[in-house]
Amino acid sequence: MRSWRHGSAAYLTGAESSAFEARRPRMTAKLPIYLDHHATTPVDPRVLSAMLPYFFEKFGNASSRSHQFGWEAEAAVEKARELVAELIGATSTREIVFTSGATEANNLALKGVAEQLGETGHLVTTAVEHRSVLDVTERLSSRGWEVTVVGVDRRGRVDPDAIDRALTDRTRLVSVMLANNEVGTIQPIGQIGKRTRARGVLLHVDAVQGVGRTGFDVNDFNVDLCSLSAHKIGGPKGVGALYVRRSNPRVRLLSQIDGGGQERGLRSGTLDVPGIVGFGCAADLLGSEGAGENQRLAGLRDRLEHRLVSELDGVSINGDVEHRLPNNLNLSFDDVSANALMLRLSEIALSSGSACSSATPEPSHVLKAMGIGADRLLGSLRFGLGRDNDEEQVEYVASRIIEEVRNLRSSGRATDAGSRRSSGLE
Ligand code: PMP
Repeated sequence: MRSWRHGSAAYLTGAESSAFEARRPRMTAKLPIYLDHHATTPVDPRVLSAMLPYFFEKFGNASSRSHQFGWEAEAAVEKARELVAELIGATSTREIVFTSGATEANNLALKGVAEQLGETGHLVTTAVEHRSVLDVTERLSSRGWEVTVVGVDRRGRVDPDAIDRALTDRTRLVSVMLANNEVGTIQPIGQIGKRTRARGVLLHVDAVQGVGRTGFDVNDFNVDLCSLSAHKIGGPKGVGALYVRRSNPRVRLLSQIDGGGQERGLRSGTLDVPGIVGFGCAADLLGSEGAGENQRLAGLRDRLEHRLVSELDGVSINGDVEHRLPNNLNLSFDDVSANALMLRLSEIALSSGSACSSATPEPSHVLKAMGIGADRLLGSLRFGLGRDNDEEQVEYVASRIIEEVRNLRSSGRATDAGSRRSSGLE
């Protein structure tokens, strides 16, 4: 199961592995510094090396049943399926459906359940979900589904009892994310799962940001559907998965992409074998190294937070400091627009909201749902730490932010409206 681990690989020799390790982007004392790991992560060199053979020597189609090229590709896909299943505690590899990412997985989960029923019903979600959940619920609402959007508290947390109160006899599905991509707030999925299971309602969890970063197990938490994405965990872009429970209860879905019948008919299309191999490898690494990495990242995050909060006035933390991703920090700086600040910090990759929504010139729906006022909305910056960040970078970033916040405040241009660096909070 663990054979893709560093150095012990079925797919690379020790020398090859070291060569790839040397390619890992070392950003120490080197600019720009990437602190936007909620948007995407670099592919881990070990993941890349596991993937490479599947582009050339082992390029077969996993659906080709008549020759070795196909068998080899299929075996690699099945191995990756085991590793992804293991990361979330799935009982069977048959519960994992590979997709093009979490956007597709979220669409398949919600539309798949809704369309399978053949009649309209009621679904419940929260105000802080990713757009790929909220937009699907809007689509279903336009098709006659009743949708309840449950609010969150000022720290972005949903109350499990509020979910329970929203359930009616017509509720078929509840969709709640494991952790938020902007403020990192971790939702009480276990408590929500107890309530949905007791009421016989399916629970879908978008676990893109939280998997491997906080305790999560689809069986312990009574989760019936779960979306994952490779590129948020050191894997490649364009690959993801939907976990679909097969027993107690067996979840039935209507496919959204029809054709060759791959993925048990739930998602037709030739499988992206190298991408899936990379996803499996990334899941394996996260499962085996995640605990240590999370501790290290939380230490870096706390250091960054401490410096900014102690050396600057008027800094507030957005999110839930008790239930927060170890790699997330979301701050607002009084009287400073995130745009103006980011413009001055062009050597640091940050985000002022969800990267996915930064093409939309609207304040973050997450911060708005948390009841954050317009002044703080404009000053909010998201820091997303990752495997390649270190103390030296964090110290550099802290010093630069302190310097530029002070500069902006003293120059009276703190809310500079002339910024051309786009963000979701303009
Ligand atoms: N859900 C969450 C919470 C996310 O952060 C993202 C990516 N920003 C997605 C879903 C969509 O994932 P993908 O990029 O794989 O489509």
